[in-house]
Amino acid sequence: MRVLVVEDERRLAAAVKRGLEASGFAVDVACDGVTGLHMAREGGYDGVVLDIMLPGLSGYKVCAQLRAEENWVPVLILSAKDGEYDQADGLDLGADDYLTKPFSYVVLAARLRALLRRGAKPRPAVLVAGDLHLDPAARTVRRADADIELTARECALLEYLMRRVGQVVPKAELLEHVWDPDSVTDMNVVEVYAGYLRRKIDVPFSKNALQTVRGAGYRLAADGG
Ligand code: CA
Repeated sequence: MRVLVVEDERRLAAAVKRGLEASGFAVDVACDGVTGLHMAREGGYDGVVLDIMLPGLSGYKVCAQLRAEENWVPVLILSAKDGEYDQADGLDLGADDYLTKPFSYVVLAARLRALLRRGAKPRPAVLVAGDLHLDPAARTVRRADADIELTARECALLEYLMRRVGQVVPKAELLEHVWDPDSVTDMNVVEVYAGYLRRKIDVPFSKNALQTVRGAGYRLAADGG
């Protein structure tokens, strides 16, 4: 899941980025409201973490503008204020949730996951494909009665495919949402990780859930393969 963090305190922005990446999110940072609005419009993010007090354009205005443009990306407001009035303002302007500074990155990651579940399309808490189960919050994967150990990246790749179960997902989209395109430019990394995943979720169970659609991308079989 790819998230945009709009935060002008650079140390905090870097810490939030690290914290969310440790929870399996791919994270971009914008340091002012105008850049944040531009990136949120263009970037195809799964969620936005938005500070209120920003140079250029406040978080309230960024959120209101997105909603005015009928952009329904889930938005979580980071508030330095703790007045109910300020939080109500944010929610009234179309934010989906808020968190008051200081906050824990574990809580931020959990709130974001909840938001992504509730977003524009219904998103179930536990993703299921046949006998394959993924719990994004606990980051646990099971097949039949067996627990499957995945790395954070493998889990993020499987989660993305399971959220689009039955659909062909292009490699470029997987690279965009599961990796940081600024640091990873070689599309082969997707194939490499698809191979890792298959060896863990399919091969030991004689299944074929993770299917290669030649020339198009990957599809997670709705029946678990
Ligand atoms: Ca700020």
